[in-house]
Amino acid sequence: MGRLQEYISKDLLSRSGLTIPKGIIVSNDSFNLDSVTFPLVVKAQIPIGGRGKSGGIKIANSRSEATDIINSMIGSSINGVPVDTVLLEEKVDIKQELYVSVFIDRDKSNALLMISEYGGIDIEELDSEKILKINISPLTGIKDYMLRSVIGRMSLDSDVIDSVKNVIRTIYDIFIQYDAELVEINPLVITNNSNVVALDAKIIIDDNSLFRQTELEGLESGLNSFETNTSKLGVNGVFVDGDIAIITSGAGLQMATNDTVTSLGGLLGPTIDMGGTVLKDEETLNKAIFGIISELSILNPKVILFNTFFQFARCDVMARAIKNSLSNSNNIPIVARLQGRGDDEAAQILSDSPSVFVTKSFEEACTLAVNTAKGGN
Ligand code: GDP
Ligand code: MN
Repeated sequence: MGRLQEYISKDLLSRSGLTIPKGIIVSNDSFNLDSVTFPLVVKAQIPIGGRGKSGGIKIANSRSEATDIINSMIGSSINGVPVDTVLLEEKVDIKQELYVSVFIDRDKSNALLMISEYGGIDIEELDSEKILKINISPLTGIKDYMLRSVIGRMSLDSDVIDSVKNVIRTIYDIFIQYDAELVEINPLVITNNSNVVALDAKIIIDDNSLFRQTELEGLESGLNSFETNTSKLGVNGVFVDGDIAIITSGAGLQMATNDTVTSLGGLLGPTIDMGGTVLKDEETLNKAIFGIISELSILNPKVILFNTFFQFARCDVMARAIKNSLSNSNNIPIVARLQGRGDDEAAQILSDSPSVFVTKSFEEACTLAVNTAKGGN
């Protein structure tokens, strides 16, 4: 579940009474544009922000323009993420773009409301003095004085104030009702007619609550195809758009590797924790590694870093699996730290593969991966 797709997030907002643009979802080539009006906005349904800047949001002024845009967007990939669904929405006129979100403030153990009159760009890119923040205790919830306090510090036309307050109350209610980690509307748009419309939404549900969020069961998650496909291989993939793909034998090693690579100045890419199940026999591992390398070759990171430490599974089996997958690796350089049972044989097996560097050293592997990603060797 995790992050819900934009159109699903907006559906939840709409069911709670908030205004969203009228729209339809298209996910194959037999779409019907009879119910839409022009101009419309075509929005790639991918779980990353900044789509505006990267070609994931396009305006179509006519039926033929819309058809062209939809056909070129579906099946393409944006920042490495394949697009299989697009949202077609009426184009909304924008007078003002706000940012509003509620998320879990883990340091303070309560909810944090953030609101800004400088919405439309990623919150990470906003100066912190442009963001108003209020902590909300889950025991008291949102109080009217809190709303008055933030609204009073913004320059909003008086005729939209009630609607904006209603949006804040509603996203807090959704945050609580659905056990969300984040409910974000960015931008929350004020139109020339003083309508308040959620133009984009991002909701992340706490996976630990899924047992009691039966209403959300079966909803399409924001998992992209890398995450879906790797989970079919029996491993746990997380898509990150970056240079260095990291594959480890365990979640703890994953975190240690991520930290080390980051501290060496590397840019983390997609990660895969192989877990234990694919290690159970050679055939299963072969299949998994072949699949992993195929998936990664589509994303095309600058380097693939394997970091494994085996006490029970065998490094030489892993080395053979890597070697068997090289035909599919798109020649992406591979750094493999293979330490533990059979590590000498592993180094031997891969010694004649020029695109693979093998080491037993964690440090050396991370350093080499970072240097390779930076263009050195
Ligand atoms: P993101 O870049 O992935 O966060 O996608 P958004 O849905 O937030 O859209 C980014 C920007 O595209 C918005 O801030 C708007 O400026 C613009 N945009 C998106 N939808 C519309 C629309 O219906 N009308 C207009 N005028 N602009 C839009
Ligand atoms: Mn947005």
